[in-house]
Amino acid sequence: PVFEYAPAPESRAVVDLAPSYGLFIDGEFTESAGGDLVKTVSPATEEVLAEYTRGTAEDVDRAVRAARKAFETWSALPGAERAKYLFRIARVIQERSRELAVLETLDNGKPIRETRDADLPLVAAHFFYYAGWADKLGHAGFGPDPRPLGVAGQVIPWNFPLLMLAWKIAPALAAGNTVVLKPAETTPLSALFFADICRQAGLPRGVVNIVTGDGATGAALVAHPDVDKVAFTGSTAVGKEIARTVAGTAKKLTLELGGKGANIVFDDAPVDQAVEGIVNGIFFNQGQVCCAGSRLLVQESVHDEVLDALKRRLSTLRLGDPLDKNTDIGAINSAEQLARITALADQGEAEGAERWSPSCELPSSGYWFAPTVFTGVTQAHTIARDEIFGPVLSVLTFRTPDEAVAKANNTPYGLSAGIWTEKGSRMLAVAGRLRAGVIWSNTFNKFDPTSPFGGYKESGFGREGGRHGLEAYLDV
Ligand code: NAD
Repeated sequence: PVFEYAPAPESRAVVDLAPSYGLFIDGEFTESAGGDLVKTVSPATEEVLAEYTRGTAEDVDRAVRAARKAFETWSALPGAERAKYLFRIARVIQERSRELAVLETLDNGKPIRETRDADLPLVAAHFFYYAGWADKLGHAGFGPDPRPLGVAGQVIPWNFPLLMLAWKIAPALAAGNTVVLKPAETTPLSALFFADICRQAGLPRGVVNIVTGDGATGAALVAHPDVDKVAFTGSTAVGKEIARTVAGTAKKLTLELGGKGANIVFDDAPVDQAVEGIVNGIFFNQGQVCCAGSRLLVQESVHDEVLDALKRRLSTLRLGDPLDKNTDIGAINSAEQLARITALADQGEAEGAERWSPSCELPSSGYWFAPTVFTGVTQAHTIARDEIFGPVLSVLTFRTPDEAVAKANNTPYGLSAGIWTEKGSRMLAVAGRLRAGVIWSNTFNKFDPTSPFGGYKESGFGREGGRHGLEAYLDV
């Protein structure tokens, strides 16, 4: 149901947006060499929030040169000195977390409860965590004298704009690299506010550079001859394109791509707990999560019981104003993404799966999609195979653990999975056979900076987070 609430102008007011933004290069906001201005809108209302710059290849070149120059001094600093800057950045993020949470919610459309309670605490945690590594690189098991790679070119998506930035910038800087980061076209603002935080924290010029723009801007960054390391999070199609570009060079590359995660519920799982995990797995951030539990594999004997409980639970979710702290389901990030989700859901229906949504009135402006559950899904259905990246759950059944494993692995992706059972032995046996980079047991979508994250198969290669995330930015 859509709930009517008092607007929350005080929340909106904590963000002081300029009408337009330049690029952050060599410690300053600067104008582009010929790049035009692009509007970024609130997906919940279609209100224009600000204009940002579409960076050109010339802008990218200027940013890479600034990063190269800064690398000479930044990489030579004692690790303990780099740590001080990272700790400072982490503290400023904490101090400004309310502003950043509201900003991220405005630009992305996700509920403030998520940005406030998940995104922002995790962003700060990543900077604290990697700050702690900066003076311990020689004691991290990489050998006595690991070295930074140089200039990192980083390209990130729109679903967790600030968190993806943190996953990339914190380990790169801790290891002594400098960075040019390109945020996604629909969510450029939090990266620009982060640039301001770097200034506030006194980070030396050129260590972090933010070049906003589109796919062409990202392509120019990836192809720049003076970029030593490319880190990309986004779609599998673009990831493959980047791999082709990088294949003609000796650059290091890590790719975090799409997923089609299986959430496997056995008949002995506590139903209420599993239902919370299913809801969190696919409706957190409107399902626009690479590791979403977008396929529910439920043991046949408890299918009806689980589905009844799931539908009851979904009928209590509140969809609406993402700035309202009681909202569970926010807006879809863009009109394009909404069109993609709509087309795939319609296809699911046309191919014969049974479609269900809670009774739900959608706001008249903005990009909205009701939580949707498809039952009677088989492997032949497109919605069982393609990543939808939206609030759409495909429900399949299984009879035996072997069948659950076979179905869970029957996807080109391999990013995430969840297992719900009270039997520890079954948990371990099944987990050992799943081809997925992260497997949650009796929970879902839990993140921690100490844990490496990344995919098998077409979900990419390389790990972010933990000590492994550091290794991706070091020559050892
Ligand atoms: P996308 O691949 O279209 O865009 C991602 C970024 O790449 C954007 O900044 C975009 O401007 C840039 N880009 C586009 N074309 C480029 C090119 N040719 N060269 C360089 N950069 C280019 O993906 P999206 O729609 O922003 O994000 C959704 C996808 O990201 C989903 O498939 C999702 O699964 C995936 N994702 C994966 C993870 C992960 O950790 N594995 C995390 C979040 C999102």
